[in-house]
Amino acid sequence: MKTALICGISGQDGSYLAQLLLSKGYTVWGTSRDAQGSSFGNLQRLSIRDQVKLISMVPEDFRSVFTAIKQSDPDEIYYLAGQSSVGLSFELPTETIQSIVNGTLNLLEACRMFDKQIRLYHAGSSECFGDTKGQPANEKTPFNPRSPYAVAKASAFWLVDNYREAYGLYACTGLLFNHESSLRPTRFVTQKIVQTAKRIVAGSGETLTLGRLDISRDWGWAPEYVDAMWRMLQLNEPEDFVIATGVTITLEEFVAHTFKVLGLDWKKYVVQDQSLFRPTDILESRANPTKARERLHWAPNISNKQVIENMIA
Ligand code: NDP
Repeated sequence: MKTALICGISGQDGSYLAQLLLSKGYTVWGTSRDAQGSSFGNLQRLSIRDQVKLISMVPEDFRSVFTAIKQSDPDEIYYLAGQSSVGLSFELPTETIQSIVNGTLNLLEACRMFDKQIRLYHAGSSECFGDTKGQPANEKTPFNPRSPYAVAKASAFWLVDNYREAYGLYACTGLLFNHESSLRPTRFVTQKIVQTAKRIVAGSGETLTLGRLDISRDWGWAPEYVDAMWRMLQLNEPEDFVIATGVTITLEEFVAHTFKVLGLDWKKYVVQDQSLFRPTDILESRANPTKARERLHWAPNISNKQVIENMIA
């Protein structure tokens, strides 16, 4: 039986990954910056709060990273912690860079210090690619980060790449495109759209205020994406992968489908506010997940529109 350490277990992906690994018979440890103070609402919603062992770990603090690994003695580590909002990274650039880059570096350094060959998954991001001008990004596409968050994820990607080559670590990065679920916090635009539309249909009388509607993204279903993370740690040799559905829609289409499912015309309820525009944004994000299909035998079953329907349900 294997043991996994999930750093950032309170988040959307951490909670779904814990559920998946428990179903596979893993002993699951998880970290939060404050394991005593956190309510672990997502783990509670999935009814697995009592099945995981929780430790406090601050990714930027090497001592706490080292101690968490020593205590849990994992076969696999999933680094999912860190400031995860692109928009917020423009307001908190230092925290974003430190939690993502120093956190990843601390884990890589700590893994080197244990005799056991620990496998490390790093949560990279499609944001590293920037705007590929309509070209679907694959594992060979050059990076062009357009936010402090993307710069941090790109740096962490290269750290993983370098430590893999320099020290022979089993470490890899998943370049995941957006993935959503009902566990997404409302600061993310998809959940904001779904929750506001549901309140409007219930008679709240409010409007939905959004920034750019012409951006397009590849939105997948988070529980399917954590399966790809696990598959990446089961190969003979570590490799990086693009994980996405391969289908991109605009935010306007996301909004329109949400309101349509709820029986409303979105144009009556949505207003645009320029103050919500990001200083720099990616207009079009497109993915080519062929390598994941061929090497990981991973392919998502849930389409963009089903993601919306699931979030509403
Ligand atoms: P969440 O924000 O839901 O979870 C991340 C967790 O990291 C939080 O629960 C929090 O745990 C911890 N955290 C937050 N801020 C900090 C910080 N400043 N320092 C240290 N820890 C922090 O993210 P997701 O589950 O959605 O994503 C998981 C990982 O995948 C993240 O690294 C994200 O950037 C990346 N990713 C996500 C994508 C998506 O579409 N969801 C797409 C591509 C990449 P606690 O408060 O308990 O410490």
